[in-house]
Amino acid sequence: MLFSQPLTLFWFRRDLRLEDNAGLYYALKSDNPVLPLFIFDRDILDKLPTPVDARVQFIHQTITALQNRLQQMGSGLLVQHGKPLEVFAQILKNLKFAAVYTNHDYEPYAQQRDAAIKELLAHQGIPFYTYKDQVIFEKNEVTKPDGKPYTVFTPYKKRWLLTLNEFYLQSYPTEKYFKNLASPGVLPLPTLSELGFESSKTSFPGQIVPEELVKTYDQTRDYPALAGTSRLGLHLRFGTISIRQTVKSAQQLNATWLNELIWREFYHMILYQFPHVAERAFKPAYDHIPWRNNEEEFAQWCAGTTGYPLVDAGMRELNATGFMHNRVRMVVASFLCKHLLIDWRWGEAYFAGKLLDYDLAANNGGWQWAAGSGCDAAPYFRVFNPSAQFQKFDREKLYVQQWVPEWESSNYSKPLVNHELARKRAITTYKTALTNYKNNL
Ligand SMILES: Cc1cc2nc3c(=O)[nH]c(=O)nc-3n(C[C@H](O)[C@H](O)[C@H](O)COP(=O)(O)OP(=O)(O)OC[C@H]3O[C@@H](n4cnc5c(N)ncnc54)[C@H](O)[C@@H]3O)c2cc1C
Repeated sequence: MLFSQPLTLFWFRRDLRLEDNAGLYYALKSDNPVLPLFIFDRDILDKLPTPVDARVQFIHQTITALQNRLQQMGSGLLVQHGKPLEVFAQILKNLKFAAVYTNHDYEPYAQQRDAAIKELLAHQGIPFYTYKDQVIFEKNEVTKPDGKPYTVFTPYKKRWLLTLNEFYLQSYPTEKYFKNLASPGVLPLPTLSELGFESSKTSFPGQIVPEELVKTYDQTRDYPALAGTSRLGLHLRFGTISIRQTVKSAQQLNATWLNELIWREFYHMILYQFPHVAERAFKPAYDHIPWRNNEEEFAQWCAGTTGYPLVDAGMRELNATGFMHNRVRMVVASFLCKHLLIDWRWGEAYFAGKLLDYDLAANNGGWQWAAGSGCDAAPYFRVFNPSAQFQKFDREKLYVQQWVPEWESSNYSKPLVNHELARKRAITTYKTALTNYKNNL
């Protein structure tokens, strides 16, 4: 690649699309030709457990499609593979950049990475411009009147809705400026196996959600046997759809669906404002619960052989497809933390390894909610009854029948714990730990 003038570099991360992309828009409006970059980040890939990871396969597919589209427009995508700091140090040796543009990423690892890149670039006098793209409101944009962050969802949601106006939903018309893309010639793309991964037969949900599904979301969303939710989690996670477009549809079609998208924003805000949640309980007292952490029971939970049909169906769905319905996520998570008294971080990590839509903020929020340690008012002594949940939300038994066909036969596992005894044990354990903590303050 030879260029007579300095380039603007645009770095794709959780925003893998050309349309309505804030950072890309501003890059394209800068004065120099724009070279798009994607890095297969070894710091992230090295932490993934197996050579088969459908998320890497999804990213690889998406990057291939982006590369093809950019080539059709006479441009290209520079795809690198390595540790971002080393990759940047290397490309800065070969190419001259006027500026680097990207979109914000709020996770603790990403923030450290970006700070290091910013410093490296600053040494060479190259500015690093970053933009909000994956949420409608970020950081301090929705706070209490005194400027402090909200820690409870309902008042946060009220303020979020009051703050929302058309300005925040305007799309970024990148297509007007595609002519400003650089023409780097044909650029190579590593294969999945060069990245150290194998492909699987996972089928990825599409980006087009039937309007009818969203319109009836509030009536169907709680029933795992129905195709009643959007399955857009994966696309929102990797930015293959725009949150602004999604919220606009939600506004028009269904307030309950919009509510879920606000939960997503809430958990992003919580992780940003209270980064300790990535490691510890939001409420410090809950770090003192004496978890039983029985490894055999954990293995049975993971495998979906606890003897509780709805729990087992959820875990088997997750293991087979990388997806689990939200109602069932709540039930299996509660079962792990309360019935088995296993540290919520074990479950959080298991989900992180399996969910296609895995997102640190939402997953952590969901797990802390289930453990009672999070930032909402649900009292710890409210323990889901997995059998009652099954009766209520899978009345026709279709979901359980699909994933646990043997559930009514003698081959089916005996319940790992007795519900009533486990419920009492959980409440006593929590109560004692929280009282001791309070008394020792
Ligand atoms: C223990 C636990 C772990 C979870 N882990 C994740 C995770 O890693 N990634 C993730 O995106 N969601 C997570 N959720 C939230 C929720 O279960 C999923 O977002 C939802 O099931 C995804 O299905 P969908 O795409 O069909 O969502 P829909 O119901 O159609 O909702 C649309 C979008 O809104 C967002 N959303 C919906 N519900 C929530 C919620 N409660 N919290 C935050 N965002 C929400 C998601 O981006 C979702 O794709 C978790 C929930 C629990 C209880």
